[in-house]
Amino acid sequence: MEGRYERIILVRFGELWLKSKNRGTYIKKLVSNIREQLGSEKYSLELEHDRIIIRPGKDANIEPIKSGLDRVFGISGYQVSYVTKPQLEEMLKLARSLASRYDKKTIFKINAHRSYKQLPFDSAELYEKASGMLRRMGYSMAPRGYDKELVLNATEDSGYVSIEKVKGLGGLPVGSGGKAVILLSGGIDSPVAAWYAMKRGMEPIYVHVHGFSSNEEASNSKLKEIVALLASYHQHYKIYYVPSHIFQVGAIRTGRYELIMMKVFMLLLAERIAVNQKCSVVFTGESLGQVASQTPENLAAEEHMVRIPVLRPLIGFDKEEIISVARRIGTYSYSILPYKDVCSINARNPKIKADARIVADISKEIKIKSIVSRSLKLSSSFST
Ligand code: ATP
Ligand code: MG
Repeated sequence: MEGRYERIILVRFGELWLKSKNRGTYIKKLVSNIREQLGSEKYSLELEHDRIIIRPGKDANIEPIKSGLDRVFGISGYQVSYVTKPQLEEMLKLARSLASRYDKKTIFKINAHRSYKQLPFDSAELYEKASGMLRRMGYSMAPRGYDKELVLNATEDSGYVSIEKVKGLGGLPVGSGGKAVILLSGGIDSPVAAWYAMKRGMEPIYVHVHGFSSNEEASNSKLKEIVALLASYHQHYKIYYVPSHIFQVGAIRTGRYELIMMKVFMLLLAERIAVNQKCSVVFTGESLGQVASQTPENLAAEEHMVRIPVLRPLIGFDKEEIISVARRIGTYSYSILPYKDVCSINARNPKIKADARIVADISKEIKIKSIVSRSLKLSSSFST
């Protein structure tokens, strides 16, 4: 019977509530990100005070619209709802038909609300009738630990009946926090860090240092796929491919400090690009103590060489936790493909507790700033 009713998607935006002053800007960004994500799908979009209503076009397939919404940061959840008349009997009949799809072990929670006071029934009655109906159908109900939530909402013009509430990615609309430079390797961690940066509203400017003989080769490596996967959450980004050979030559006699100097080189590159691209922060995929190079002393000595704040969203994650996020968001399968990583080339007995003064001295000695400038001249970038 549900085929007779219009189906709409009610989108909630959660955390945007907190940003009372800039709320309008955040919502505008969210709406434009939703539109981009839904591309050429057939739907119309309406903005209400505290939610967005998406009406799929007639005969439109709702599944691609749902999977689009599943990838938009800033959506705390959405609900696929059928629209009826604001009549008790009609709403219950539809609820009955929707509930009957689920097996009898399903535990329901009922959320009943009458928002228009002139209707001939109130929220309590709506709730009582719905729970009586589910009980007679053989279902049990619980306020917590339930499987499905039956939402009944009666307004002046319509009744909304939903049994499909989906949790969104949460976070903030990408771009609402401006842009950030993200040091992106071909590994497991930095793509996850990039995802968290986007989740907090940052549009990514990726910087990748490679050991290929041309930027073009680097841009056709698995990095391309990692970046494309990340772009499935937000299609706008910029990426810089920077060759490592000038650094490799310059740093030849840095011994046990080579890996640390490589990181300093990357941070300095990131800082230059950040200034140029008007970004105020840099993200990396580092996590404290994960590998010998990521000791507090090393992170401190490296960061000491730049002025820009370095944000590390994975700092307290275990490797297992990072892997599980990487699998969930989809980057893992690309990250584990074999890759010529510039950091692993150098890793031989690296210094574990770097001395910040020595790092500063080596930087002067090898003229790291000039290495950075020359490398940047050989870099190439493109944006979407
Ligand atoms: P990842 O899994 O992200 O490669 P990792 O565990 O290999 O990290 P490191 O090699 O110490 O650890 O790298 C730490 C961070 O430095 C990375 O998360 C990334 O942000 C940055 N980084 C490493 N290699 C590169 C690279 N080739 N280009 C740009 N950034 C890099
Ligand atoms: Mg790595």
